[in-house]
Amino acid sequence: MASGDHNQQDTRKIAEYVIKNIDTALENGWIKVYYQPVIRSLTGQLCGAESLARWVDPELGFLSPDKFIGALEASRQIHKLDCFIVNKVCSDISERINNGLDAVPVSVNFSRLDFEATDMLKVLEDAITKYDIPKDYIHVEITESMIVSDADLMRRVIDSFRDAGYEVWMDDFGSGYSSLTLLKDYYFDTLKMDMDFLKSFTDRSKSIMTSAISMAKDINIMTLAEGVETAEQVEFLKCIGCGMLQGYFYGQPMPVDKFFAHIEEFGITIEPRQWRHYYQEAGFVARYTNEPLEIIEDDGENFRTLFMNDEYKRQIQLKTSISLEELDNLIYKTKSPLLKKYREFANKLEATKNLETFYYTYNGNILCLQAKEIVEHGGRHIIKASNRNISMDINLRKQNNVDNKLKELNHIFESVLVINPSRNTIAPLLGNFAYSGRDSDETIGVLSENIKRMADNIVAATDREKFLEFADFETLGERIGHSEKGFIENIFRLRQRDGNYAWREVAIMMIPGTHGKEFMISTKATADDAQKVLARNTAVFDISHYSNANLDPSLFTKMWENILSDASVKFFWKDRNRRFLGASKAFLEFFELTIDDITGKTDEEMNWHINNADFHNDEIDVLNEGAYIKNAPGQCIVNGVVHNIMTNKSPIYVNGQIVGLMGYFIDIDQELERLDELYQARRLDSVTGLMNLAALAEVSKSYSQNYLSNGVDFTLLIIRNDTHQRIIKDFGEDFANRLLKKIGDTIVESSEGSGAVAKCLSSDFALLTNICDPSELDILKNNIQTELGKIKELDGNNITLKIRIASKLRSDEGITDENMYSAVLQEFM
Ligand code: C2E
Ligand code: CA
Ligand code: CA
Repeated sequence: MASGDHNQQDTRKIAEYVIKNIDTALENGWIKVYYQPVIRSLTGQLCGAESLARWVDPELGFLSPDKFIGALEASRQIHKLDCFIVNKVCSDISERINNGLDAVPVSVNFSRLDFEATDMLKVLEDAITKYDIPKDYIHVEITESMIVSDADLMRRVIDSFRDAGYEVWMDDFGSGYSSLTLLKDYYFDTLKMDMDFLKSFTDRSKSIMTSAISMAKDINIMTLAEGVETAEQVEFLKCIGCGMLQGYFYGQPMPVDKFFAHIEEFGITIEPRQWRHYYQEAGFVARYTNEPLEIIEDDGENFRTLFMNDEYKRQIQLKTSISLEELDNLIYKTKSPLLKKYREFANKLEATKNLETFYYTYNGNILCLQAKEIVEHGGRHIIKASNRNISMDINLRKQNNVDNKLKELNHIFESVLVINPSRNTIAPLLGNFAYSGRDSDETIGVLSENIKRMADNIVAATDREKFLEFADFETLGERIGHSEKGFIENIFRLRQRDGNYAWREVAIMMIPGTHGKEFMISTKATADDAQKVLARNTAVFDISHYSNANLDPSLFTKMWENILSDASVKFFWKDRNRRFLGASKAFLEFFELTIDDITGKTDEEMNWHINNADFHNDEIDVLNEGAYIKNAPGQCIVNGVVHNIMTNKSPIYVNGQIVGLMGYFIDIDQELERLDELYQARRLDSVTGLMNLAALAEVSKSYSQNYLSNGVDFTLLIIRNDTHQRIIKDFGEDFANRLLKKIGDTIVESSEGSGAVAKCLSSDFALLTNICDPSELDILKNNIQTELGKIKELDGNNITLKIRIASKLRSDEGITDENMYSAVLQEFM
């Protein structure tokens, strides 16, 4: 009892002291800002910090917030502390940035009384401007109890901070009683789960956290757990997809220097600004689910698992205790041929951005992997994937159609489709099923249509009819029944991924145990020698596929003559021995040759390639194997100058025999030059599509002519974004360019056709206009400022623009045509 009284007395004494001395404390630097790390759970990187106030008193020593916050609130002085903290935090951040070090966003704590006492938004805006830091470095924490105590005021506060471009975070979520309603009525960017949940860490609190985090993700709110103290808690929070972690496990609140030293000592790296949005997006995907779920990062070369739930591990038959690192070693750091297919698969889904499906065998199981790209930045991709072991699927097992042979299929076959004529379905089972005729994961459709589509899209035109007969499901059962081997097969030319046609053996068999209800159609490469024999037989293409079959032969000849003499295509044709038979006019002109110079000669005899062997081998392939060479890069020499060229070659068939080849090439240097000229001629800036400096100079000549001859005055405005360099540094050149494009578009729109807009150096844009009236000019400038002010993010990344506009009239004192541009730039000094 007595000691309790004693403490109470102490507390009251300290409170009185605090109330009396806050001004002195602020002046003398007794108030310190401590930072506590916030960790991104997917990557383990430092992604933020919370600022927490400390009072280090010369008399009373170290005071934690519970000793002074209450007293300052009671005496209506808390805003003094919070204003100080805001400024100190901004100053600490700017110091990091100015020293070229990575900084992280800091969340600051406010009291409700701050908003009654002063305009906290203005305080924050002033600090941001004074220390010149981007707005996304400061987040504002608001507690549930603050809202409960004055709902109207807090709504206005939350809206105004968010409108101004700051994230507002809900602190201590779950500590009060109205949390859920608050989420419905107020918009928050992040939800900070109260540390009480982790204190108890019972099944009950775990399941509440699990649902709260799922719910937050559903409504697009980021998640953070406070009070993380143990590895077990970290494991659990990662599992349920909690986005950020904060607590003693990663570090206590510390002064800024100690903070960064501590981070380094613990081997924690700092998340650079440009990756923030990317990992936030990835974070939204990680969540608790009974479905198999994996999140992978692909940097273009390597894969890294960021998240994998137990169900996923179960599907691929791994122990749930396996760590992500062990997992990566097992799956991605191998030389397995599967990895190569996996790489192709990743490339594909990164190109299409669609949900893609991939079937493969692993440890004798058949797995169906479905994956989709979530976000991409700077060549890195986040992929969300699910994986299902379909050989574990009870239905499949019942049908008994997955015997051991089938399991080894993808070592033999390139693709396998399962066909069920009575259900009218066709479904891919193995391989990348380029042959299913469609590249999506859709597996069910009208059978006859799918077969027709397959024939149209991938079977060479000349083989189409034969294929449709072969794949006729009306008679299939019968034909297979009559076959000795129990399956039927035939050979067709099928289009490959690279666009070339190749011979493939296609087989259809009845799936064992389905009593003739299901069939399997598979494709595989023919043996090499068979390929060669077959290639000589017939042409892939038939003129009747490209023109009216009744084409008048004399017209056809004329057409050919025209192409030979007029077209700019450089082409040639050769006999079986690679000797030139002829070439187009463009070809001969390019090499400055006549037809007599080349007829009967081979390339080697002409001596014009640097790398004769490649050309030679390509041609042998065309002539002997019917290969189609597409866009083969190479170099050739003309009059001593080396040209980079790209060559295409294809066989010429007569009566099923290859009698020669024809080819054409593109001179890349010439092509580029032509494109360059096109650009030059239009004098456009390639980033923004607006006029470039050269064009601006041209246009301003017209304006000044009009001024000198007709007295029509004009204004040159230059619009500059002062944060341009920082944006390049933080986000890279590509991103900065996309922003410039957006700025340019906005200037064009907001200037409403009042003049000519050009992109100048760095981030400068110029606007030439005949608007010269001061008030009209002000309206124009304000318009541009306002519209550009609305750009607060790009591709989901928060950015802060600082736009300045300077201008001069041609009639202004001392202005000449020559000095006008630099005179406007002077205004920025
Ligand atoms: P809060 O905003 O909920 O801050 C989190 C508190 O939890 C901090 O206490 C922090 O030190 C503590 N904490 C962090 N990780 C762990 C952990 O793993 N385990 C445990 N047991 N505790 C952990 P602190 O710094 O004493 O701050 C207490 C409260 O004082 C804060 O609660 C906040 O409401 C208030 N406060 C702190 N600084 C400021 C400020 O600058 N302005 C205002 N208005 N309030 C402040
Ligand atoms: Ca807080
Ligand atoms: Ca809190």
